[in-house]
Amino acid sequence: RRALGSLGQSRAKFISAEERTGVTFEDFAGQEYIKRELQEIVRILKNDEEFQNKGIYCPKGVLLHGPPGTGKTLLAKAIAGEAGLPFFAANGTDFVEMFVGVAASRVKDLFANARSFAPSIIFIDEIDAIGSKRGGPDIGGGGAEREQGLLQILTEMDGFKVSTSQVLVIGATNRLDILDPALLRKGRFDKIIRVGLPSKDGRLAILKVHARNKFFRSEEDKETLLEEIAMLTEDFTGAELQNILNEAGILTARKDLDYIGREELLEALKRQKGTFETGQEDSTEIPEELKLRLAYREAAVAVLACYFPDPYRPFTETDIKSIHSQPNMRYAEFSGKVFLRKSDYISSIVRACAPRVIEEEMFGVDNMCWISAKATLEASRLAEFLILQTGMTAFGKAYYRNQNDLVPNLAAKLEALRDEYLRFSVEKCASVLREFYSAVETITDILLEKGEIKAEEIWDIYNRAPRIPQPTVNP
Ligand code: ADP
Repeated sequence: RRALGSLGQSRAKFISAEERTGVTFEDFAGQEYIKRELQEIVRILKNDEEFQNKGIYCPKGVLLHGPPGTGKTLLAKAIAGEAGLPFFAANGTDFVEMFVGVAASRVKDLFANARSFAPSIIFIDEIDAIGSKRGGPDIGGGGAEREQGLLQILTEMDGFKVSTSQVLVIGATNRLDILDPALLRKGRFDKIIRVGLPSKDGRLAILKVHARNKFFRSEEDKETLLEEIAMLTEDFTGAELQNILNEAGILTARKDLDYIGREELLEALKRQKGTFETGQEDSTEIPEELKLRLAYREAAVAVLACYFPDPYRPFTETDIKSIHSQPNMRYAEFSGKVFLRKSDYISSIVRACAPRVIEEEMFGVDNMCWISAKATLEASRLAEFLILQTGMTAFGKAYYRNQNDLVPNLAAKLEALRDEYLRFSVEKCASVLREFYSAVETITDILLEKGEIKAEEIWDIYNRAPRIPQPTVNP
């Protein structure tokens, strides 16, 4: 998303390491024909040799396109889950706005990494960020860099031999129109699938998937209620439908009811419409509960940003005027030469935990909501980056050995080490938030009252806050 210097700050995104998704086609509802097409690909992936003997090869690339929130990521994960293959996720924005030469080498690393786990799946979300038409308008800058990255993707895809060491590349975009045609040529993304907005039946099926772990008075009651919501939600995406059920669950819990009822569902629907129709700009339209959660999240992020200041990118301000799955905290332009030590990487993992830790502390583990969900992902990605890409951890150089027979071993070792870093980071983050609890509360109050707060005031509150001593947390 930003420059390499953003290693030191929590909003950076990185190529994730191998992940087993555990997601299946059962988790995706509606648009059955998409599943049928993808199921075929999974069959080919699984019985690679059998199909090869018949001269049937898996496509090298599958491009999923359609509006955000329609389940493209979910489908990519389901392909990996169904085929039982490791999943490497990246975002097109990971590759742009970096120092010269970095985009191409990031792409190279990603493919090398995936190949060493082959057969495996690479997922590049928002591929348009790197794969837009060359020579077009340079939206967001970094044109030359992006071009290098795109060329590298093309080289990598052309380079695969169709053999058992297959890597399937899945791209996702909501801007098919701006993609470079070179990406869509034969032997690259040669399977293009549109993931559209669900039909009424599709919406009902999606609602049912997300109602699986929710309580209703009876099966019939559930059926009738979901049927009604499906009727009322034309043009809603799967992600929005999921939100409605989650929101209804929260409302139910808040009213201390045992079952989700019609009133809660309709209220949740109204809120969902509200957040999406206000252009997410006017804080008066954000439901109170969400505003409170946002304020706590931003306050926690601010306190952590003071405790572990980013040496290269000072924060400037934050607000609760819009809702995103990542913090609203804004940062100054990146400056200075990058000199990151291991402790800087670790600080950035601890900072990334803040949204998740504060939600759990304030609202309870069973009552968290989507505004903290990305934090977990972010922290894991950063930890994996530290382990796999910097060579600064006990994982050492084993990664470069890259032998297939080491793979199961390595994967287990990576997971264990990553979990160790995450456990420490969550603990440390919680300890900082408890120590500076009064600052968290003060910043939250100001955000609720004024809607925004500047760095200067945050620092002032942080420096004056009475601290509650905490036991030391050691790595
Ligand atoms: P995209 O990648 O298209 O932006 P995501 O896959 O990230 O969308 O969707 C976000 C979430 O919304 C998913 O994790 C899932 O919970 C829910 N969702 C979206 N579409 C569907 C669907 N068709 N069936 C079930 N859940 C869905």
